[in-house]
Amino acid sequence: MQSTRITPQVKHLVLIGGGHSHLFVLKRLGMRPVPGLTVTLISRDIDTPYSGAMPSYLSGFCSEDAMHIDLRPLAQFAGARLIRASVDEIDLEAKTIQLPGRPLIHFDLLSINTGSQPDTAQIDGAEANACPVKPISHFLSRWERVRAEATKRVSQQTPYSIVIVGGGPASVELALAMHYRIHRDCNLPLDEKSSLSLTLVGSASSLLAQHGRRVQQHVLNTLTERHINVALGQRVQRFLPDSVHTQTGADYDSDASFFATGARLPEWPGRCGLALSDDGFIDTLPTLQSANVDFVFVAGDAATIRGAARPKSGVYAVRAGAVLAENLVRFATGKRLKHFTPQQQALALISLGDKTAIASRGSLMASGRAVWEVKRHIDSRFLAKFTHLPKMAVDLDLTAGLVDSQTEAILRQHALRCAGCGAKVASGVLSDVLDELADDGAPRKPIEDAAIIPLADGRVLLQSIDQLSAFINDPWTFARVATNHCLSDIFAMGAQPHSALAVVGMPLASPAMTRRDLGELMRGVKMTLQENDCELLGGHTAENPTLQLGLAVNGFAEASDVLSKHAVNRGDVLILTKPLGSGVLFAADMRGRCRSGWAEAAIGQMLQSNRVASQLFVQHGATACTDVTGFGLAGHLFEMIEPTAAEVELDLNAVPALEGSLTLLAEGFQSSLHGGNRRVATGIYNQEAFDKNPRLELLFDPQTAGGLLAAVPEQAAAECLADLQQSGLRQAAIVGRVTSLTSGLPSIVLKAPRG
Ligand SMILES: Cc1cc2nc3c(=O)[nH]c(=O)nc-3n(C[C@H](O)[C@H](O)[C@H](O)COP(=O)(O)OP(=O)(O)OC[C@H]3O[C@@H](n4cnc5c(N)ncnc54)[C@H](O)[C@@H]3O)c2cc1C
Repeated sequence: MQSTRITPQVKHLVLIGGGHSHLFVLKRLGMRPVPGLTVTLISRDIDTPYSGAMPSYLSGFCSEDAMHIDLRPLAQFAGARLIRASVDEIDLEAKTIQLPGRPLIHFDLLSINTGSQPDTAQIDGAEANACPVKPISHFLSRWERVRAEATKRVSQQTPYSIVIVGGGPASVELALAMHYRIHRDCNLPLDEKSSLSLTLVGSASSLLAQHGRRVQQHVLNTLTERHINVALGQRVQRFLPDSVHTQTGADYDSDASFFATGARLPEWPGRCGLALSDDGFIDTLPTLQSANVDFVFVAGDAATIRGAARPKSGVYAVRAGAVLAENLVRFATGKRLKHFTPQQQALALISLGDKTAIASRGSLMASGRAVWEVKRHIDSRFLAKFTHLPKMAVDLDLTAGLVDSQTEAILRQHALRCAGCGAKVASGVLSDVLDELADDGAPRKPIEDAAIIPLADGRVLLQSIDQLSAFINDPWTFARVATNHCLSDIFAMGAQPHSALAVVGMPLASPAMTRRDLGELMRGVKMTLQENDCELLGGHTAENPTLQLGLAVNGFAEASDVLSKHAVNRGDVLILTKPLGSGVLFAADMRGRCRSGWAEAAIGQMLQSNRVASQLFVQHGATACTDVTGFGLAGHLFEMIEPTAAEVELDLNAVPALEGSLTLLAEGFQSSLHGGNRRVATGIYNQEAFDKNPRLELLFDPQTAGGLLAAVPEQAAAECLADLQQSGLRQAAIVGRVTSLTSGLPSIVLKAPRG
C-alpha cells in the first residue's frame, strides 16, 4: 500500500539572538530536525562574532571572517527562517514580537540568547566619548579607525593615548592585543617605550579579581614589560572627548577611550515582564526556563541561573547550548526537562597578544606559546563546528535500476531544486510544447511580456500572470519579492499595473500556523501592491507541498504607448537596470553555502520595484523592453532580438553582478534552470573566446525579480542611465548595443575586452 509523507507545521519556536547557545540549538535542529516545528532566528548580528578569537584578530593573527560565524548557512542547515533585527519588545500574553516595518511575529515558545553589554549607566559621557567593547561589530569598526591613526602618530613619534576601562580578562586581552598590533605595524619591539600611551583603568584593587594571585602577577609583569600603565582603585566618573576623569580626581589623557566594564542586561527583557534576579539578569531556572514564564527559555550572559550564578563568560553559554537545544525540543513535545548545572570553575585562557597565553583555573596556572596554541586549537575547533556544516542530503526516492547512473546523478543534483525563478520550466521545453500546440503548423507569433487585449475606447488591457515557489523561509519577505516579480511584466511594457488577483499555495499546517503565515504573506502582497499603486482585487488559496505565490496583474494603457519587447532599432543601446546572480546565490543558499551579506544584498535588489525604471525608459524613448527573469539575460535578450533577427554586441565586463555570484559560479554552483538556459549559448557567436570570463555563465543565471533590459536610442542612453542610477538603481549599466537588423539569425557577439 502506498503511503504519503506530509509534514504539517504546528508550532513556532523563535530564537532571539545568535549567541553561543543558539549555535548549538541550530546545529541540533539541522542534525536532527523536528518535523512540524517551525523555527525562526532573530538576531541583531548575522555575522556573529566569537569573542574568544577577538584578541587574535586585534593582534592581526586572523582575518575578521575567521572570528565570525555566519548564521545564514547555519540557519539554512537548521531549516530556520532568519531575520536580521534587534528585538526590544515582546508581548508575553499575546505571544508576539513586534519588529519595525513588519507584521507581528507569533510564537509558541521562545528562547533568548542575546548576551550582555558593558554597563554604561554609571559613567557620564560614555555614549558620546567612549566605545564599549560590545556590540563587537561597532567596537571593531572603531578599532580600525583608532589603529590607523595610532600607527600614523606612533610612526611619526608623536604621542597617541588609549585608555581602556575595566579590570577583567576582556580589558587585559584588549590592551595587550592593541599594543602588540600598533607596535608591530610600526616595526617596534614589544618592550620598547614608544609614543603610544596605553592605560588600563580599573575600579577594583587588583586586576583579574576572579583569578589566582600567580595569574594576576604574571599579567601585571607582562603589562609592565610592555609599558602599559595600570591604574587600579580608580572608578571612572566621566569620559571627556580627550580624557578620562576618575572619582579620585585623576585625569588620563585619551585620544581613544574604550570600556569593558561589568556586564549588564538591556532593559527590554524586564520591561516585557520577565522576572529579573538580584544582579539584574533574567531569573532563570536550572531547566533554562524563565522563572516566571515557562515558555521562555534563556541562556548565556542574559541568564542568571538560580542557585548557580556564574561570571558572565562565553564558556557557560557554550556549555548551556546542548541542554537548551534538548529542552526546547522536550518542551515543544511535552516531555520532562533536563537540568543544566554549570561547572563551578571554568578553565580560562587569556591571550597575551603576542602568541602566548595564560591558562587559569582556580589556583592553577600555565603560560607560554603552547597555551596559546591550545587556545587557538580550541577556538578554531569551535568555529569549525558551526561553519563546516555537513552537506545537505538529497533523499531521491527512485528504485535502483530504473535509470542509468548518469541520469540518476543528474536527477539527484536537480532534486534539490531551486525555488524562485530557478523552479520554472526550462525555456527550450516550454518552447517545444508551445510549438506542438500550434494546430496549423504556422510559426508562433512573437510573445510580449503581457497579453494585449484591445478595448473599445482605443486603450488596451494588459494582462500577465506569474507564480513563484518560496526560495526563502520568510513568508513576508518572499511575498514582497514575488509581488515585485509579478508586477514586472506590466512595467516591462511601459505601463502601470492597475489591479491584481493572487493565487496562494500554502503548505499543510495547523489552522493557527496557517493563519499566521498567510497573514504575513498577504500583508506583504498588499503592501507591495500599494507601493506600486495597484489594488488587490481577490484571489484563491489552496494547499500545496511548498509555499507558492502567483499574481495575475492587469494594466491599462493607450495602445500607442505600449513598449514592445521586440521593436529594437539598429544603433540602440542596451541598458540593464539590476545586477545578475540571484539564481546562483539562492541555489547556493539552499545548500547552506551563501554568505549572509550576499543574500541580503540580493534580496535588497529584489525588493526594488521596476516601476521607476519603466517610467524612465518611456520618458527617454526606449524602443523595446523586457524584464530579466527565469531565462537569464541571454535567454531574454534572444527573445528580444529573435523577430528582427538582430545582432547585438554584448560587453560581458559591463554586465553587473551581485556580490558573491561570480565566486559561487566559479565554485560550480548553478541554479537548476541554468543548464536549460544555456541552450541559447549556440547563438552567442564568439563565446569560446570568452569561456574563461567568469561573467559568461552569469548570462544564463535565472533571475527572480530581476531588472528591466531596454533598447534605448543612442542619443538618449547616457542621460537615461544617469537618471536610473540617480533613482536608486546604482548598478544599472549599459551592457551592449544593437549592431544590425535582419542579420539572418539573431545573434549575440561578445565584445572583446579593451586594450
Ligand atoms: C574582548 C572579549 C574577549 C572575551 N573572551 C572570552 C573568552 O576567551 N572566553 C569566554 O568564555 N568569554 C569571553 N568573553 C565573554 C563573552 O564574550 C561573553 O560571555 C559571551 O559572548 C556571551 O555569550 P552569549 O551567548 O550569552 O551572547 P553573545 O555571544 O554576546 O551573543 C549575543 C547575540 O545576540 C544578538 N543580540 C543582542 N541583542 C539582541 C536583540 N535585542 N535582539 C536580537 N539579537 C540580539 C547579538 O547580535 C549576538 O548575535 C569575552 C568578551 C570580550 C568582550
